[in-house]
Amino acid sequence: MHGLHASNSFHKTGSKREVCSNLINMHKTLSTGIVRSIPQQKQKTEGRTKVLLETVPVHKLADIFVASFEISFEEQLSMLDSVDLKVRLSKATELVDRHLQSIRVAEKITQKVEGQLSKSQKEFLLRQQMRAIKEELGDNDDDEDDVAALERKMQSAGMPSNIWKHAQRELRRLKKMQPQQPGYNSSRVYLELLADLPWQKASEEHELDLKAAKEHLDSDHYGLVKVKQRIIEYLAVRKLKPDARGPVLCFVGPPGVGKTSLASSIAAALGRKFVRISLGGVKDEADIRGHRRTYIGSMPGRLIDGLKRVAVCNPVMLLDEIDKTGSDVRGDPASALLEVLDPEQNNAFNDHYLNVPFDLSKVVFVATANRLQPIPPPLLDRMEVIELPGYTPEEKLKIAMRHLIPRVLEQHGLSSELLQIPEAMVKHVIQRYTREAGVRHLERNLAALARAAAVRVAEQEQAVPLSKDVHRLASPLLENRLADGGEVEMEVIPMAVNNHEISSAFRIASPLVVDEAMLEKVLGPPRFDDREAAERVATPGVSVGLVWTAFGGEVQFVEATAMVGKGELHLTGQLGDVIKESAQIALTWVRARATDLKLAASEGISLLEGRDVHIHFPAGAVPKDGPSAGVTLVTALVSLFSQQRMRADTAMTGEMTLRGLVLPVGGVKDKILAAHRCGVKRVILPQRNLKDLVEVPTAVLANMEILLAKRMEDVLEQAFEGGCPWRQHSKL
Ligand code: ADP
Repeated sequence: MHGLHASNSFHKTGSKREVCSNLINMHKTLSTGIVRSIPQQKQKTEGRTKVLLETVPVHKLADIFVASFEISFEEQLSMLDSVDLKVRLSKATELVDRHLQSIRVAEKITQKVEGQLSKSQKEFLLRQQMRAIKEELGDNDDDEDDVAALERKMQSAGMPSNIWKHAQRELRRLKKMQPQQPGYNSSRVYLELLADLPWQKASEEHELDLKAAKEHLDSDHYGLVKVKQRIIEYLAVRKLKPDARGPVLCFVGPPGVGKTSLASSIAAALGRKFVRISLGGVKDEADIRGHRRTYIGSMPGRLIDGLKRVAVCNPVMLLDEIDKTGSDVRGDPASALLEVLDPEQNNAFNDHYLNVPFDLSKVVFVATANRLQPIPPPLLDRMEVIELPGYTPEEKLKIAMRHLIPRVLEQHGLSSELLQIPEAMVKHVIQRYTREAGVRHLERNLAALARAAAVRVAEQEQAVPLSKDVHRLASPLLENRLADGGEVEMEVIPMAVNNHEISSAFRIASPLVVDEAMLEKVLGPPRFDDREAAERVATPGVSVGLVWTAFGGEVQFVEATAMVGKGELHLTGQLGDVIKESAQIALTWVRARATDLKLAASEGISLLEGRDVHIHFPAGAVPKDGPSAGVTLVTALVSLFSQQRMRADTAMTGEMTLRGLVLPVGGVKDKILAAHRCGVKRVILPQRNLKDLVEVPTAVLANMEILLAKRMEDVLEQAFEGGCPWRQHSKL
């Protein structure tokens, strides 16, 4: 109807016609756009609509199109309302345009979605194809098979039932995941760990043969009689009561005394596997207990990792350097270790990463430490301490001859036919090139000699095949020629053999024997000698003390000097608070006794009148602390003020009170051994340390004079040549 009206008014005016034709064109273009956007499947409809577009008069077209749109009731009404063709067309055009826009937006979205879909579809398709190809090739290592293999491994891991349930839950989750999905890998690594852990797998426990164990210990280690005895006792208890919850053995001693190798010998004696967990520098509790799996890059703790490595649930586990764990903001590893070492708790050790309890009760724990002091008391309480004090030079010599040299030779592919290190040379190495409680440097030096020898032997071996041939060829010729009386050189020179090669061919037959020249060439000039103490105390104001460090005992010099000043005391050498206080006490004591000690002419004269005193502990880079330098400090000061030199053959240790009493100190055994190593002949000890002398090897004591002191005067009496002449005048 409207269309008729429109056609009637269509040809009225020119300008009107122009506007209309513009509108018509626009309408047509938009409508064509709509027609084009009709999906391919509906091609028939498209064809029909095209025909419509071309045949139907434009004024009708607006009606047809608008009628097919979904528009609101109001819009429909306003369309019907518009009788004027121009208005109608412009309204229709607007509606068509809107419709076209919405079609375009919808198209865009579908295109995008289709693009994504087709990508994953493509991947899926490719994967299917790859699987088919792999199946065809008999290549089954794809993800699904991997998961199946993991499941098989988990089944054979012998997990306890509750853990198996947990593992299965995790496995079900894994199966639902795509390999590309985040979390797939971590879940898989976790399950691998569960499958790898030795839940039940154990080394076969054979009947423990104590005699064989003893022989084994003896063959691996020289000396250490008491230590070996204690280990045998420990093994005997285990034999009688295999599930005995005995204390954990803890070997304490300086480096290189055989703590680790004793632990591995225990493992060998028990027929169990050995795993070493290094705790040195562990400050984070997570190192022991692991990180929770929520963390990125989370890992199990060192214990669980060690068990995974060793793959049995009953190894001998060495907790190495248990004294080197520290605590900071990241927790306290020692508290985690407490749980590990407590037989009541360690059957359900909780590793944060593992998140299920693991039974550690079958593990035999052995710990090592350099010093007892830093070990927290509750941890120490769970361990039985066995001290290894260090070796005397004689013991070191025996260890070197019986154990180290054969091992070093073997490690370097040598034998005693190729290299010999005579006892005298080993002694030289011990005395001049090492100064240690253990034998680690000694072993290293012997290894250096072996390396040097290996180079020579290898060089000679290169020359030998040629030389041997020449030798073999040359000999009959030589003999013939000699018999004939002919020229000998003529035959030898063409074989390109020179004198050097011949001589090396002969030299190989006899072993290379290490001599002093070779020692110097390989190890350099001697690093230590016994004259050191004598040289150091050549001036007054120096005294020789004995200290105890993580490396065992050591000789420590103390130097004191005075200069013009205001009566101040200066201290250097990286000293701790305790040692600084000792220095104060020493100075006070000396000042208080100045007249008795004939250091000041008369009462009332200050020793520090117009001068400062400076005390230095050489080896300034090494931090030092402890009270045991008391007597050494006093001796240095007395030596300084009296201008008397201290005896060079004497060393001392002892804490001193303000009133001059000498108190006992720790580490006596190590200190005496250190003094012995440095060629000290006399050692001044606090009287109350007499009991500790039992532990010092008799061979060392036989070579040494031990002087016991109750008071500071006793120390001074022994420290100076000809005693302490001022003592008689002492009022004390
Ligand atoms: P630690 O653990 O105390 O630092 P190690 O156990 O590593 O020392 O010992 C260092 C080396 O010295 C090892 O090769 C060890 O076999 C050897 N060793 C130490 N003590 C003895 C000994 N009494 N008999 C034989 N070899 C020894």
